[in-house]
Amino acid sequence: MSGEVKSIKPYHTPIRMCVVCRQTSAKKTLLRVVRRPEKDGGGLAADPTLRANGRGAYVCASQECIQKAIKQKRFERTLNVPSAPPDLADALMAHCVAAPLSELSSGAAAL
Ligand SMILES: [Zn+2]
Repeated sequence: MSGEVKSIKPYHTPIRMCVVCRQTSAKKTLLRVVRRPEKDGGGLAADPTLRANGRGAYVCASQECIQKAIKQKRFERTLNVPSAPPDLADALMAHCVAAPLSELSSGAAAL
C-alpha cells in the first residue's frame, strides 16, 4: 500500500453542528451554550467567547434556530440539564447577527 496521505488544510477550521437544524458550520459562526461546572452554579449559559469551561452545544446565529432550540429544549437535552434559564434566549439573541424579524421588533427595546 502506498499510504495515501490525507490532505491537511493549512488553516484548521473547527466545525460544529447546530442542535436544531443539524447544519454544520464553522464554530465561530455559531452561538455556543455551555453547561457550567457545578462549582460555578451549574445550569446553562450563553457563551459568546466560545471558550467557557464546560460542555458546549451550538446553534446557528439565527433567530429561527435559537427559538426552536429553546422551544424544543435542545440545549437541555444535548447537555443533559433539567432546564435552561429564562434569559438564555435573550442572551443568545443578543449575539445573533442575522437579519431581524419584524415580528420581534415591536417588543425589542431600541437603543
Ligand atoms: Zn441551525
